[in-house]
Amino acid sequence: MVLIVKNPATGEVVGEVKKHSEAEIMEALENGHDAFGQWSKVNAHERARLLRNWSRLIQENIGEVAEIMTRENGKPLKESVGEVHYATAYIDWFAEEALRVYGRTIPAHTESKRIIVNRQPIGLVAAITPWNFPAAMMTRKAAPALAAGCTFIVKPAEETPLTMMKLVELAQEAGIPKDVLQVVNGEGPVVGKLFTESKHVRKITFTGSTPVGKQLIKESADTVKHVTMELGGHAPVIVAEDADIDFAVEQTMLSKFRNAGQTCVCANRILVHENVVDEFSEKLAAAAGRLTVGNGLDEQTDIGPIINKKGYEKITAHVQDAIDKGAEVLVGHQYDANDEKEYYFVYPTVLKNIDERMTIMHEETFGPIAPITSFKTIEEAVEIANDTAYGLAAYFFTNDYRVGTYLHENLNFGIIGWNDGATSAAHAPFGGMKESGLGREGGTEGIEPYLETKYVSIGNL
Ligand code: ADP
Repeated sequence: MVLIVKNPATGEVVGEVKKHSEAEIMEALENGHDAFGQWSKVNAHERARLLRNWSRLIQENIGEVAEIMTRENGKPLKESVGEVHYATAYIDWFAEEALRVYGRTIPAHTESKRIIVNRQPIGLVAAITPWNFPAAMMTRKAAPALAAGCTFIVKPAEETPLTMMKLVELAQEAGIPKDVLQVVNGEGPVVGKLFTESKHVRKITFTGSTPVGKQLIKESADTVKHVTMELGGHAPVIVAEDADIDFAVEQTMLSKFRNAGQTCVCANRILVHENVVDEFSEKLAAAAGRLTVGNGLDEQTDIGPIINKKGYEKITAHVQDAIDKGAEVLVGHQYDANDEKEYYFVYPTVLKNIDERMTIMHEETFGPIAPITSFKTIEEAVEIANDTAYGLAAYFFTNDYRVGTYLHENLNFGIIGWNDGATSAAHAPFGGMKESGLGREGGTEGIEPYLETKYVSIGNL
């Protein structure tokens, strides 16, 4: 049994990957569990050295890794190169964090006692990752797990297994033992169940859609596994009356159109003060109209294909629903789709006169569509922005520190960009509130989910 990997820009087959059988996955889980005993005892400096080796090898092969990524995911080559840098930044960061897993001692309540707090790796970690960032979504889980002394097994998305398989190959070349970092391929629900039912797995870490995340949390309950969940988003962008409009447009472009709008942190609702909404909308439409749509391997491409038909149909339905309910198309609303050849391109689209009745204001679109609505007061903007079950990223533009302070204190989102449309960084904690997730990845927070706390009370001294 094989998984056929296709280039979403052309529909051409770019690779065939062996699907692992249930028995093979069970064996991999067993091996990961057995390897934990040794790996957790390897000293932190050596684990850090191996992680640095891995990062260096990925960087030495950046051209090849980026091209694999563009072929299976569709994103422009320059974005794939950017993602590889982002992916190795996590490895570099956690190689250093490995050296800072500190315990503590607590003053005891009698002279005859000592109290020591140790941090220990939690065990075998199982990860499930999405197709939109095939490298970085893996390294930001694998690197802290390995740094902490955990062993790691990962199932990539069926659409994009090749990038990750290359990264795992390079990890082995770097000297990371093969049972410490493993990749298995198969259907999400099948592999997911094997992971959650396994008594060897102590933690599930997942990046993907909210419904699948909820399912994995439920399935993890029976064996009380730790979970980290990076789920969907529905990011608002608020443009205040005083904002530097040109800068806000430039940054909104970065947030909205990276990876053809297929990111969980991308702008999904743009709320602009009524006095500047016309200027902002015209400028955003002009900038969106200048983007080049095409095959990610072409150097001039800014917007690659949509990953698959399901994604394409959701986007077109959101746009149609908005138009049917009165939205005005400023640019875009143009498609190049071919069911037979299996490619689906959506041209950057800017929609104005968006209102609350439209699906696009409530659901994640995951495409290059920018819906704009207006507001009168900053309080109203916050109310609209927070009116969602999601709480991942939010952005706002203002140079008034009182407005900015009010906004960042009242927006219920885990990641806030104030005059910043590109917030992600390996050294900062990424993650969402509400139904956008549990836990944080990156930053000093990012290694915590892979550690247990053990307290030792020594008596009779
Ligand atoms: P999308 O709809 O964007 O593909 P998903 O959440 O369905 O997002 O997919 C993200 C990852 O979750 C992929 O690796 C996919 O194989 C996996 N997946 C899908 N369904 C399940 C499931 N029921 N259990 C575990 N993993 C799943």
